[in-house]
Amino acid sequence: MSFNIYNTLTRDKDEFIPLKEGKIGMYTCGPTVYNYAHIGNLRMYIFEDTLRRSLEYSGYKVKHVMNVTDVGHLESDTDEGEDKMALGAKRENKTVWEIARFYEDAFFEDCERLNIKRPTVVCRATDHIQDMIDFIQRLKEKGYTYIANGNVYFEIDKFKNYNKLANLNMDELEAGARIEVDKNKKNPMDFVLWFTNSKFSNQIMQWDSPWGKGFPGWHIECSAMSSKYLGDRIDIHCGGVDHIPIHHTNEIAQSEGASGHKWVNYWIHGEFLVVDGGKMSKSSGGFLTLSKLIEEGFSPLDYRYFCLQSRYRKQLMFSYENLSDAQNAYKKLKKRIAAIVNDMDENDTVNDASINAYKQKFLEQISDDLNIPNAFTVLSDVIKDNSLNNMEKVILIEDFDLVLSLDLLMIETESTGDVDEELVNQLINERNQARKDKNWAGADEIRNRLLEMNIELLDTKEGTTWKVK
Ligand code: AMP
Ligand code: ZN
Repeated sequence: MSFNIYNTLTRDKDEFIPLKEGKIGMYTCGPTVYNYAHIGNLRMYIFEDTLRRSLEYSGYKVKHVMNVTDVGHLESDTDEGEDKMALGAKRENKTVWEIARFYEDAFFEDCERLNIKRPTVVCRATDHIQDMIDFIQRLKEKGYTYIANGNVYFEIDKFKNYNKLANLNMDELEAGARIEVDKNKKNPMDFVLWFTNSKFSNQIMQWDSPWGKGFPGWHIECSAMSSKYLGDRIDIHCGGVDHIPIHHTNEIAQSEGASGHKWVNYWIHGEFLVVDGGKMSKSSGGFLTLSKLIEEGFSPLDYRYFCLQSRYRKQLMFSYENLSDAQNAYKKLKKRIAAIVNDMDENDTVNDASINAYKQKFLEQISDDLNIPNAFTVLSDVIKDNSLNNMEKVILIEDFDLVLSLDLLMIETESTGDVDEELVNQLINERNQARKDKNWAGADEIRNRLLEMNIELLDTKEGTTWKVK
């Protein structure tokens, strides 16, 4: 079955054809680590994770590369405003390095709580300064750069079809891009590749370069790092729709300028999370974090469930009321699944044909431009289907959860009465270790001890879950 996905470049749903059979190179623009990720950012990473998982479900091996922006991103995407990292440092009276590492860790903790897979490669901008310098050198050799007032600029008029991704006329692009005109630019949409003459005299992050001590512009990191880890042709590049007119447009100019050929085959963009009609953004303040949602009584997976209920190309309206509805629906779903698991007979026979038919239906939905809401309908059909036994249902739920990643087979602790969960989890960990060490007798002993405590284990591909017998 073909995997079809909306491609911003062609403005059409395209059949996905990889560059190398069975393999996918996927690059996603990562966080700027000067503050906590807000739940809008996290919606984007949930969408990208779901895309990756769907491709893996379809049989592809995905190499997923994500950058961490810890230098060079000014307040506006067009080289204007203050340095975001410096703003964070000033706000918290810390060094930029402390800010960067702290918020990078916080970001990956959030991702873990949301069951977002860690990318195959995570690359920090500050660890790749030399790669960026080399990339700028290539652009210079090809005649795309000029120096003005000490800074190195990319000259967009030298690059044919600069606006092919955004498909806006140049006036619209210009109007969107410009806040204040940098007098050094030949064209207002030229952008900085390397700053030496920064307006921030106290810039702490600085490196030597052929053009003098300075720091890279924001866009160059994605071109340099993606080419380092994925080569100069890649299958998929993702990000938020806000990146289409500036960041991704500039990335294309750099990458295709340097290589002289097409760079990305499928540009896949996610829509925004909005609140009261406006987009949620870090700069506007008052944004919501995952920790805030937890404080308000929601679990990270309530939020993941909430995001998965809408298509990634539609704006999603956030309100606590909407989130609360999603929380209730998710709880109900898990209760229905818990009843199935509790009622499962291990001796049930499994009919492969019915399993495969349902897997096929699920695949059809995720392959249709990631139609996750319809994939949930397939899940619900499985739960309702009286012709399936509980064993078959559990197999399918476990299978669909490879994409949904909602811990669907994890039984709620509510129903466990006065079980010492800490002890149960500790014993499960010990058993996992015993199994890793091929100490089967030890593993069985722990399983039996748990059985004596009335706890039954269920080993799934995703890990071990348990229920009260
Ligand atoms: P940033 O850390 O600000 O560079 O943004 C990280 C990612 O979050 C980018 O892909 C943005 O497009 C995306 N993003 C920013 N604001 C929102 C929002 N309100 N809803 C969804 N995605 C967003
Ligand atoms: Zn990027």
